Amino acid sequence: MKVLYRLKNEGYEAYLVGGGVRDLLLGREPKDFDITTNAEPEQIRAIFRNCRLIGRRFRLAHIVFGRDVVEVATFRGQGTDAVEGEIEADESGRLLRDNVYGSLEEDAWRRDFTVNSLYYNIRDFSVVDYTGGLADLEAGVLRIIGDPRQRYREDPVRMLRAVRFAAKIGFRLEKETEAAVFELGHLLQDIPAARLFDEVLKLLMGGCAIQTFELLRHYNLFQHLFPQTEQALAIEEGGFPLVMLVQALGNTDERIAEGKPVTPAFLFAALLWEPVRLAWEQEVAADESLPQALALTNAMREVVSKQVQSTALPRRFSTPMQEIWMMQPRLARRAGKAAYRLLEHPRFRAAYDFMLLRIHAGEEEQELGEWWTEFQIADSDRRKEMASVFGTVRGRRRRRRRGPRTAAK
Ligand code: ATP
Ligand code: MG
Repeated sequence: MKVLYRLKNEGYEAYLVGGGVRDLLLGREPKDFDITTNAEPEQIRAIFRNCRLIGRRFRLAHIVFGRDVVEVATFRGQGTDAVEGEIEADESGRLLRDNVYGSLEEDAWRRDFTVNSLYYNIRDFSVVDYTGGLADLEAGVLRIIGDPRQRYREDPVRMLRAVRFAAKIGFRLEKETEAAVFELGHLLQDIPAARLFDEVLKLLMGGCAIQTFELLRHYNLFQHLFPQTEQALAIEEGGFPLVMLVQALGNTDERIAEGKPVTPAFLFAALLWEPVRLAWEQEVAADESLPQALALTNAMREVVSKQVQSTALPRRFSTPMQEIWMMQPRLARRAGKAAYRLLEHPRFRAAYDFMLLRIHAGEEEQELGEWWTEFQIADSDRRKEMASVFGTVRGRRRRRRRGPRTAAK
């Protein structure tokens, strides 16, 4: 409201738009607030001290209030009389730059979905609707504005956004909006892996990861985000990798609902575990003399280097993700001093939680989880007792030679 009134008092037009209006009309709490105005970025900056200008593809103003950011964008036009350099597209029609300003109505037509193109006007408390968004909101329909094929070509991420909103607000995709997704999903391959990563976080850490995951697979989009995982799911035996994934996504949703933190490192560890496990098995099969940890490292490297070609996770997440994986065989050995060292590891808790997922999916014995659960809270005498059982060198050798566990149980 502060931002809206400040813009209005300075003589500009300003509207709340996007998820803020959509979610309020649905009686939901908006995740964030987007504002659109006829003021240009420099003019916005001139009237807000707490303003940062960001973006290349879309130049935007961020008005910062502590930890909250209100995004303020200038009305965008269709760019028919675009000055050269302000709108840029590649051969497939994808927009690379889109900084042509326009009127409110033009702004409405270049948004993604009708329900995202509703404008709340503080001057008379009305909702401005050019695209039929109110009727679609009433009917529970997610409809892309304009020609679906063209709009997905301009920005293939809109297909992911369709899935995200459908899962989040429980809307169904309108027929043409839906049909074009089945045709054009492959265009996601041209999207920079870093942008896809941001989008994957919104998809899977938005509080309804399970529905989102199921819809992504239904629309054949998941394969473009996690090709190796999709492949592994296709050859699954006994439902095991799917069980683990759904459990991980369900835990994520639960934690978000409870206001607990979730980390992409853990989520990606779960999403990529089956490909890693399969590659690990192959490494071991190819060279039995290879130490287990080395085989796992090779497998991890192979999977990660393929993954970053589609959805690239930054190093600050991929490092802890790999630590979680590396700790799995070590947790299974639990021998003597090593067990104590693991307990001190900064990633112990995540690795332990991850192991519980694998146990839940039937990949390790229940008893292993119980052992670690007790070991964490046991007093020093009991710990000594527990660790000594697994402390013999012969025991360790035998386990090591066994290699990675297989899914077949
Ligand atoms: P939420 O914030 O709850 O995830 P939202 O609808 O507000 O949902 P944002 O990503 O915040 O989504 O974008 C704000 C608005 O900007 C959208 O509602 C839509 O009108 C417009 N928009 C965002 N991304 C695109 C896009 N790729 N193509 C066209 N319009 C877009
Ligand atoms: Mg928003």
